[in-house]
Amino acid sequence: MNYETKLLSTSEYDITYAAKLLADGEVVGIPTETVYGLAADAENEEAVKNIFKAKGRPQDNPLIVHIADISQLEEYVYDVPQLAYKLAEKFCPGPLTMVLPKKNRIPNVTSAGLDTVGIRIPYHPAARKLIQESGKALAAPSANLSGSPSPTTAMHVMNDMNGRIPAIVDGGSCPVGVESTVISFENGKIRLLRPGFISADELSEFSEVICDKHITEAAIEGEQVRSPGMKYKHYSPKANITIISGSREQYIDYVNSHGGDGIYAMPFSRDECYCRIPCIPYGDTSEEQASKLFAVLREFDDIGAKQVYAYCPFVDGVGLAVYNRLLRAAGFEIITL
Ligand code: AMP
Ligand code: MG
Repeated sequence: MNYETKLLSTSEYDITYAAKLLADGEVVGIPTETVYGLAADAENEEAVKNIFKAKGRPQDNPLIVHIADISQLEEYVYDVPQLAYKLAEKFCPGPLTMVLPKKNRIPNVTSAGLDTVGIRIPYHPAARKLIQESGKALAAPSANLSGSPSPTTAMHVMNDMNGRIPAIVDGGSCPVGVESTVISFENGKIRLLRPGFISADELSEFSEVICDKHITEAAIEGEQVRSPGMKYKHYSPKANITIISGSREQYIDYVNSHGGDGIYAMPFSRDECYCRIPCIPYGDTSEEQASKLFAVLREFDDIGAKQVYAYCPFVDGVGLAVYNRLLRAAGFEIITL
């Protein structure tokens, strides 16, 4: 792993170059509508091993496989319920990952030894072109070093992956900003394993949605989780993050009386003007907060923050995805005022 990492554009020439790298079994940083992915041929064991190496990802944390079209689904998985096709009609291409029983062509290293695999059809035009031109299903976890905030710009990927991979395709900022909604199917019901831009409410129009308890609760050591990502500390900047829950007025009073060296506030944007300690706001609506969250967490690292007090996001709709990521970034540390 000692590459001179090239920054590519989304020009036809550069996409063809990146697609060739992927077809040849290399690992490439790619834009998607959720976050940047670290992509490789999902069926090539060596290529997939190199994703784990580049990220420093635990071997038991499975990768999501990205395909170009729903018509390819049953090439990779079986026992697909009708419900999956109904959801796909509404949400695919888009930020929805469906966990289904995997066919043997998906190697165990990709599914981290599980007999299921998460499949997603990305909406982002560059991601779609790369899948089509390489002719490969692409395994792609988020393109950050394991444990760090996910990358939402090509520069974030460069900061983490420079020298570790041959190329990154720069497709601009990721519009959604948080990783895909991950679901599995249970007796005609939908189990929400990871909240994302597609919310439980939207899914519940199709069937009952069971929200896994580990979306908002830490797994106890050794506890069985349905989705391996639930047990890892995740999305963490170097600063200690604490979530503050209470009214906006209580939050402002709290941060204004807890200032000090390296201490920052992370308020809603409309409250920035009331903060008398340094702060980086993260938006007002849940959609805006989703798109900004990881970039803001990375900014705190760039300025050397030691302690960040974040105002608790909304916990409904897309807000649940923001809350889920922030909880993990904070190591589940919440102060309720
Ligand atoms: P990332 O690749 O960083 O977006 O993380 C993907 C996450 O999706 C993993 O950490 C898992 O929690 C979840 N996931 C992927 N595949 C499966 C699967 N087969 N079963 C359950 N969860 C999965
Ligand atoms: Mg990740």
